[in-house]
Amino acid sequence: MATAPLSGDLTSEDVARLAEHFEPLRAEELVEFAAEHFGGRMVLTCSWQLGTSILVHMTREVAPDTRLVEIDTGLLFPETHTTRRRLVDHYGLEVETLRPLQTVEEQAATHGASLWEREPDRCCGLRKVEPLERAIRDADGWLTGIRRDQTTQRAHSPKLVLDARRGVVKVQPLVDWSERDCWRYISRNGIPYNELHDRGFPSIGCTPCTRAIGADEDARSGRWAGSGKTECGLHVA
Ligand code: SF4
Repeated sequence: MATAPLSGDLTSEDVARLAEHFEPLRAEELVEFAAEHFGGRMVLTCSWQLGTSILVHMTREVAPDTRLVEIDTGLLFPETHTTRRRLVDHYGLEVETLRPLQTVEEQAATHGASLWEREPDRCCGLRKVEPLERAIRDADGWLTGIRRDQTTQRAHSPKLVLDARRGVVKVQPLVDWSERDCWRYISRNGIPYNELHDRGFPSIGCTPCTRAIGADEDARSGRWAGSGKTECGLHVA
């Protein structure tokens, strides 16, 4: 397929056409294509969950110039920090760490204790979305590990989509993978992963807002359980 160079002035129609082209193709082909066009202007945001492990491995293979960025909310699980260390050691990664403007203690002094219990959207806005927007400010491509089978809201996520407000093309090579596909890839390639996944946590965020799930619950029902909230606000496109 002849493809126009990707740039910040792509229309959503351009991106939709590319998404359609890549729909039947392999994840590696999309990552390779995006790397060719975005180079070092592509960012992988690392939450150190299953998708991160897969995309760290895949980018080392076909897109090594991809910038790796993490958002340390100050409320991550010890197992998540351990996963980060294991992946950094295994692949010799360089990861940029972004933190919220306030520590957890400073946030409590400004907004009251346990903001996540009273206003989780505001808390995510301060501790996740604001640092994410700093992380992708200079990026043209944003590589994410979201999958269609995670929630009903993600069920129709395309492989490429323009986040027009943030001026970035989201590249989502794993959207059509099942959880089983993910584990097969992890196992075949001997990739370190977050061990909370073995203990009933298919989706892992901050400690106050994440719990293990039961056998018949959907994958993200352990996030903000009982609040009606399903997304942190990172994935709005
Ligand atoms: Fe705050 Fe919970 Fe969002 Fe973390 S997941 S930023 S603790 S509301």
